[in-house]
Amino acid sequence: MPTKPIMITRTPRGTQPSDRTHTGDTTPAWQQALARAIRDPETLARELELDPAHLPGLHAGHTLFRVRVPRSYLARMRKADPQDPLLLQVLPQQQESEEHPGFVADPVGDHDALAAPGLVHKYHGRVLLLTTGACAVHCRYCFRREFPYAEHNASQEDWAPALAYIHADSSIREVILSGGDPLSLSDPRLADLVRRLEAIPHLERLRIHTRLPVVLPERVDNQLLNWLGKGRLHHVLVLHANHPREFADPAAAALARLRARGITLLNQAVLLAGINDDPDTLCELQEDGFRHGILPYYLHLLDRTRGTAHFEVTEQRALELHQALHARLPGYLVPRLVREVPGEPGKTPRWAGL
Ligand SMILES: *Cc1c(COP(=O)(O)O)cnc(C)c1O
Ligand code: SF4
Repeated sequence: MPTKPIMITRTPRGTQPSDRTHTGDTTPAWQQALARAIRDPETLARELELDPAHLPGLHAGHTLFRVRVPRSYLARMRKADPQDPLLLQVLPQQQESEEHPGFVADPVGDHDALAAPGLVHKYHGRVLLLTTGACAVHCRYCFRREFPYAEHNASQEDWAPALAYIHADSSIREVILSGGDPLSLSDPRLADLVRRLEAIPHLERLRIHTRLPVVLPERVDNQLLNWLGKGRLHHVLVLHANHPREFADPAAAALARLRARGITLLNQAVLLAGINDDPDTLCELQEDGFRHGILPYYLHLLDRTRGTAHFEVTEQRALELHQALHARLPGYLVPRLVREVPGEPGKTPRWAGL
């Protein structure tokens, strides 16, 4: 899951992540699971026992941003419920083709911050490395849904310029792997990248923003744990779950393996109408996350990407919900409510009194 912006290639339609070097028997199970992900709206409807006739928007955004749903994520959805909060995150809706003022193709792009190919240096002490455009799931609310990825192919075959930049700036303590989803890269490639980062003496932390342990728990296999949570750098995983049911098995088992490795686990969520915009769901998301060893990080207001207006929660309502979290939860279980404002030197906090 991306921290934020930009300049990333989406995997060409219908292809697998480009680092898929394995063939036949040696293909890791998680890559096989990814290959079996649902890629068309009819199959999604059929598997959930929904009548396509009652889903008029089934093809609305599909040509622009293809359906992609791993089967283990599908298994956590309720059958025959068109309002299921997990389904709503991946199901194309009629409203995706509506135009709304202020909802644009690329709401958060800031191309100026590109310090080297695939490297964004915007905030003090940390840089964002855009590693791949591929994701295991296609979330309908995602700001990436319409970005002209092909023009900004940052899928780095060669990380050398980015690594040289990091080497040269000793104020950088943390490298954030983003995308796309960095864990859609193969373990040999990731392990190689991590080794090269470890060789940069002033680096202390490696942060990975990913939705894979939640949506494709098969990803948390022995090969991953051969490098993740090991080595000189402190590893932080920022997960992305929007609804407490996303933590259910098999994700729970994957999270337990990560926790056992001593990796710092955080969660960021997007506030989404009809999915998590009520106090009970939001509280449960934090409490259930904590049961799995995860602390909340950010609660994002939606980026105003074209085709996502039906997910928007007003800022007024967001503040009310955030206050409800403060009232009900210990301080350490209250995520920071933020909005991405292009050009501002950090995520912009939103809370009552600011
Ligand atoms: C969000 C973001 C980060 C990380 O910011 P934190 O406040 O440390 O989570 C870093 N670089 C860019 C460009 C970002 O958008
Ligand atoms: S995992 Fe979903 S929200 Fe994250 S980048 Fe991919 S499509 Fe967007």
